[in-house]
Amino acid sequence: MEIEVKEKNDNEMVFILDDVDVAFANAIRRIGMMEVPKIAIEYVNIIKNDSVMFNEVLAHRLGLIPIVSDIEAIESLIPNEECDCKDDAGNTDGYCSKCSVSFTLTKNTPGVVYSGDLNSNDPKIKPVYDMIPILKLKEDQEVELEAVAIVGRGKDHAKWMPTTVCTYKQYPVITFNDEKELSNDVVEVCPNDILKLNKNTKKPEVQNIENCTLCRSCVRASENDAIDVGYEKNKIIFKIETDGSMTPKEVLLKACDVLNSKADKFIEFF
Ligand SMILES: [Zn+2]
Repeated sequence: MEIEVKEKNDNEMVFILDDVDVAFANAIRRIGMMEVPKIAIEYVNIIKNDSVMFNEVLAHRLGLIPIVSDIEAIESLIPNEECDCKDDAGNTDGYCSKCSVSFTLTKNTPGVVYSGDLNSNDPKIKPVYDMIPILKLKEDQEVELEAVAIVGRGKDHAKWMPTTVCTYKQYPVITFNDEKELSNDVVEVCPNDILKLNKNTKKPEVQNIENCTLCRSCVRASENDAIDVGYEKNKIIFKIETDGSMTPKEVLLKACDVLNSKADKFIEFF
């Protein structure tokens, strides 16, 4: 398997996998969304809420705020269901300092309350962004609450999904049938500007093939099969975008770890 990274920053990564099975890429995709651990607010104790926002909506909004969940943060917390503060069946709604991070929020001045107003008891584990609006307070209104964040997984609730985009597509291939006349209309219909007119030959040619979504608009426009859009079966363009709680690289490496431990279970069992 060959890997080529095309784009990479703190929130987004695009890479190409060559000579890989679709099932493998799909396993990484599903684990990246559903089984990579992330920290999110799970319990909220609303002491006072004079705003027009219902308590349930406020608690829901708090749950969706991305909390720093890099490797160091995740490793500093025991998964709540494995902690001593839970009963053997993992059923009690308990939490303690070993498995959770606490936040407090108190505000009594008019204006918007932002994620940055949440005070964490662990300076490293806090909201990723300070300017996410939570609610609005008017004159003489007050909000006071405590919130507790724990490690969870996307398969239990979407708030624990570290990825906002985790997707792949097979590598597009565009072929021209030189024996047939290709109408220049195909250049106009392509929504992603994959085709452009060559100034010298006056014929359409391919550019930025990786942006092709395989929509086949050009095939329909040509009407005479002079152009065809297909894909390479074992070459995949993979894209991971995160909510900022961790980097795409951390998601990918953790997803590989999880897949590895699943395979290990088979090896240990047999
Ligand atoms: Zn605990």
